[in-house]
Amino acid sequence: MKLQCVIEVVNRNHSALNIKPNAKYLRSTLALGKEPKKEEEYFILHFSSVNKTGTKYKVKCIKQVFVKCLNEGKVTLRFEEPPHDLCIKSEVIQLKSFMRLLKSCITGDTKDLKLSNLSSIGVTSKDIAPTKLTINNRSEFPAKGLPRTLKSLYINGLKLCNFRRDILLLNQLTVLDLSNNEIEKIPPEFSRLPSLCELHLSNNSLGLNKNPNWQWLLGLQVSNKLKLLDLSGNKLKDLPKSIWKLQSLVTLKLNNNNLDYLPSSLGRISTLRYLSITENNDLQSLPYTLKHCGLEHLDISSSKCTCDETDLKHINTKWKSYDSLVHIAAKIVLKYKLFYAPNIIPKTLVDLLDNCDMCVCGKPVLNDKNNIIKKMEYNNTFSRRITFNLLHYLLSIQCFFCSPKCLTSIISSRIRL
Ligand SMILES: [Zn+2]
Repeated sequence: MKLQCVIEVVNRNHSALNIKPNAKYLRSTLALGKEPKKEEEYFILHFSSVNKTGTKYKVKCIKQVFVKCLNEGKVTLRFEEPPHDLCIKSEVIQLKSFMRLLKSCITGDTKDLKLSNLSSIGVTSKDIAPTKLTINNRSEFPAKGLPRTLKSLYINGLKLCNFRRDILLLNQLTVLDLSNNEIEKIPPEFSRLPSLCELHLSNNSLGLNKNPNWQWLLGLQVSNKLKLLDLSGNKLKDLPKSIWKLQSLVTLKLNNNNLDYLPSSLGRISTLRYLSITENNDLQSLPYTLKHCGLEHLDISSSKCTCDETDLKHINTKWKSYDSLVHIAAKIVLKYKLFYAPNIIPKTLVDLLDNCDMCVCGKPVLNDKNNIIKKMEYNNTFSRRITFNLLHYLLSIQCFFCSPKCLTSIISSRIRL
């Protein structure tokens, strides 16, 4: 963009040395441009009647912007290097649009920028690079879309049915709160958000989705970073077994859902410390493998966890080892701890490996029929702090087994909670 104006260049070094300024307002053109190969590197070029080759000023070198008299068509840009003040006079509307553009160029890099005087036109440093946004009303959504600089976004209680796709562009987002809406579906591209640490989705309708696809949560980037996940109040009937991919997860809230079991693969999330599964009236049992997480707090109050024990008389019929090609291949991958990904091995094999259960010994179990329910007394090796109804002192625990040896050890209760 070019701005026709008159400019007086004041060299601050001269005034500091008491050299009398000989500057005066000269007819000028200001051009705002971008360095060809460097993203985010903007500059201002100043041409005047005596300086036809132009002087280049880097936008990031702007030290201060004086806009007190913007409504009279006057602005001063103070640069750190060179130590120049550009006193600009121009037509008000043009000058304002130039300043707006300049503002968007410096968005995201306001650390050393003193913008105190910008408040006179209602612009604060927050507006220039907002990092936090709370939307309490649908009319508050920014017309130009959500600012890319956002680190925290709260869109709580608006009865939104659809996930807003402009959230997918927020690469700096670390906290997202979409609680108390009516969202049923989140697009798979969500999993590419690179910085997300906290995701609050309580009281939505994710469980109403008839074909749940958890790719949005379990794709590579979100699953590596996410520390807190709140899926309470979503009418969820089950969780994906591949939830173990959330390898940084510390807090998981699943209160007030319709879960009847929890995947044993939760035991593979070694970072998990706080697990809350209150008010899940259908919950039959807890997976034994939670013991492998190192939980500090487990809250199962108002969830039953009291289904019947497996009748051990028939247990031998339960032990089966599959020998299909895909199972043999999966065993080899697991045995040698080979790296796998969908572009290396067939999808059927990836699915089988991703959805493994977990044996009481910690090894993967390929056959999900290999499990029994056993009632076990709670003691504090399961979690340092556990909250549950005292009536249910005996908890039903689901135990998977990878081998006849592990099965024997469960039955003979050599394995304890
Ligand atoms: Zn085992």
